[in-house]
Amino acid sequence: MALWMFRRGVVLRCVNCGEIYEPDPFLFKCRKCGSLLEVLVPVEGVSWSSFRGRGVWRYRPLLPVSDDVKPVTMGEGGTPLIRCENIEAWLRDRYGVAPRVYVKFEGANPTGSFKDRGMTVIASIARSLRVKLVAAASTGNTASSAAAYTARAGLKMVLVLPKGKVAKGKLGQSILYGATIIEVDGSFDDAMKAVQDAVEASKGGIYPFNSFNPWRLEGQKTIAFEIAEEIGVPDFVIVPVGNGGNISAIWKGFNELHKAGLIDKLPRMVGVQAEGAAPLATAFEKGLDKPLFVDKPETVATAIRIGRPVNWMKALRAVKESGGLFTKVSDDEILSAMRMLASMEGVGAEPAGASSLAGLLKLVEDGTIGNNDTVVLVATGHALKDPDAMLRASTKMLHASSSSEAAKLLLEMAEKS
Ligand SMILES: *Cc1c(COP(=O)(O)O)cnc(C)c1O
Ligand SMILES: [Zn+2]
Repeated sequence: MALWMFRRGVVLRCVNCGEIYEPDPFLFKCRKCGSLLEVLVPVEGVSWSSFRGRGVWRYRPLLPVSDDVKPVTMGEGGTPLIRCENIEAWLRDRYGVAPRVYVKFEGANPTGSFKDRGMTVIASIARSLRVKLVAAASTGNTASSAAAYTARAGLKMVLVLPKGKVAKGKLGQSILYGATIIEVDGSFDDAMKAVQDAVEASKGGIYPFNSFNPWRLEGQKTIAFEIAEEIGVPDFVIVPVGNGGNISAIWKGFNELHKAGLIDKLPRMVGVQAEGAAPLATAFEKGLDKPLFVDKPETVATAIRIGRPVNWMKALRAVKESGGLFTKVSDDEILSAMRMLASMEGVGAEPAGASSLAGLLKLVEDGTIGNNDTVVLVATGHALKDPDAMLRASTKMLHASSSSEAAKLLLEMAEKS
């Protein structure tokens, strides 16, 4: 087996029954109960001064791969944490409440979403394993990121995408990076089932880059490390939720810092889902401990248009353990939050990425988030990913039939300003 690849002390644990396994990169389900696995990394001896360099690999002492693994990297991570004073002022005017608001702008990653943090870790593992074929189902960003990192690693990549349902920027990236694409008639959940079935039947012949692969989430937990290192532990971290991998990864990251003694409190995790694709938020509202799967998920936020989240158990646990909550937002609220973030702060997030701001507005309005709270909104992906969504915003647009007429219009505006 590939034990040399993993740091000493790393094990896999079933999220449901707790069974422990050796770190096997091809094991994705518990042999006893069939549930997903999580990676446990030893934290003993890790201190803030253990971290060197920047980006995801700065936190190598808390990543599960051994020092013998050569990273497939493009400097992912190390994204800006942006204080949003204009939005704070707007909240104060409107609700009389002034939390401190930051955006963690994951659109600044090499392919424009947080997925790069996970892909750098599994592409490094996959290259070390010399796997023959990599596969991933995607609503778009996993595809863009997996295509880029496998290209860099010299691995063969096949993407399974729901036909006609991937935002243009994401599809364009996947084509540009040269991945093979299977477009399936159906939803993301159908694409995901295809990958899971084929991976299982191939007995190691296909390596999956989806988030049921727990090694990917190890890269994504660095979002928590960066936040804590820069501003300490916020009261709330608000995360858009599709498959539920990212919110659980961020929660895991905070817990590892806590266990290592590097932080002394934990944030409350808030998961945001779109009304038309809210299997977890609806279940949470009803007090259930299982998701209410949605057969035909619909939302303008294509990155979270997911009806059967594979990581549902991890996501629910993250929210419950942290004393957090799930909330639902409408497509109008998402698009309005996208425009607000862009026009008030200059931060361009795709609809799913802006849904964290839509969630914040809900929670300020209902009093969950108040004056002394510090909130981090994870803006998961870049606005450029989804040109159609950007073009749905409106702005003042004038037409001039000649250069001189355009100059005249400019001068008129200067007089009025
Ligand atoms: C993947 C993705 C999500 C959802 O993350 P999960 O880990 O599937 O919950 C949200 N927003 C964007 C932009 C994404 O790319
Ligand atoms: Zn189990």
